[in-house]
Amino acid sequence: MKHIVNVNETLLNDLRERFKNWNDKTQIGDKLFAIAPFLKMYRSYAESYDSVIETIEYYKSKRPNKQFINLLWAGETHPIAKHNNIKSMLILPIQRVPRYVLLLNDLLKNTPTDHPDYNNLVSCTDVMKEVAQQINTAIAQAESRNNCIRIQESFETKFGSKSLPITTLVEAHRIFIKEGTLLKQCRSERKQRIFYLFNDLLIYAHFSGPPPGKLVVDHTFKLETTSTNDLLTESGFAFQIKGQGKSFTVYAESPEQKQEWLHILSETIKKQKEHFQRLHNIEETENSKLNPEPAAVWVPDDQVILCQVCQTEFNLIRRRHHCRNCGKIICGDCSKSRRIVQSVKKDKEVRVCDECQKQLLQ
Ligand SMILES: [Zn+2]
Ligand SMILES: [Zn+2]
Repeated sequence: MKHIVNVNETLLNDLRERFKNWNDKTQIGDKLFAIAPFLKMYRSYAESYDSVIETIEYYKSKRPNKQFINLLWAGETHPIAKHNNIKSMLILPIQRVPRYVLLLNDLLKNTPTDHPDYNNLVSCTDVMKEVAQQINTAIAQAESRNNCIRIQESFETKFGSKSLPITTLVEAHRIFIKEGTLLKQCRSERKQRIFYLFNDLLIYAHFSGPPPGKLVVDHTFKLETTSTNDLLTESGFAFQIKGQGKSFTVYAESPEQKQEWLHILSETIKKQKEHFQRLHNIEETENSKLNPEPAAVWVPDDQVILCQVCQTEFNLIRRRHHCRNCGKIICGDCSKSRRIVQSVKKDKEVRVCDECQKQLLQ
């Protein structure tokens, strides 16, 4: 903060000197260019902005510190603050760099190309734009990290468990992309689930009690082995998410919401597949590693009244079961076999229907 003030004070004094003896040939680009190397300070300032705000909130409300609150009050009510609170004052330095860019663009437009200051102003604008870009990146990274922390803290589920087989959400390479609720088709009804999309993962969860509260994670998809499938014929803005261990149909609230999810999911999955391929040196022809057979989508219970193998009607005694290999609903008699189905569980035999059993034996 002090460094930022110093650099700007120096610039202000230098510009004042130039303005005292202003004429058509006066330059200011050289002075602006002189501060360029110091602009990186703005980047570290922007990076720490969020944690500074958090710390202020912490001592204001979570663990109130009387001395600190009095100091804040004294500062915010001081005439020099012009009724601004601490947060809006602290954001000002971050907004400074884009303003420098605008100012320079304006200045360039009004400077003839043969003016002695012209070239200086061009280089200056380039440097300033670069710093503004770096600041934006730094802010985006800090935002993503904060989102990862927030989501991580909202999970009741333990990391390293079956539904959440990672050690932490907060990692340098992880970027938070999107979150939102979708209706997931479960066995007998559609249930609201919260989806979190990262550059490498798709996690979905539900509230353990009445919201807002902690979340129970249902499943974590690794994007390199996940795919989506638009269901154009299905009513209710439906699409499928298919992956290892689980595949299912989800319903969006509107066609726009569905398109948004489908678009961002397919873009993110594509990028992650390319990244994974490079990282593990996988040939494009080794399709099985990048696009393994996804788990079967289960047929919803209410869509079927007869066993899809023997056509016998279901009742209280003849109950519905799902074949883990094809997703069909079948009766117990038609699904006595247990087999390893790679797309569902790699280490445990699961229920398969007689049709699949015959096929798998071939
Ligand atoms: Zn049957
Ligand atoms: Zn089957």
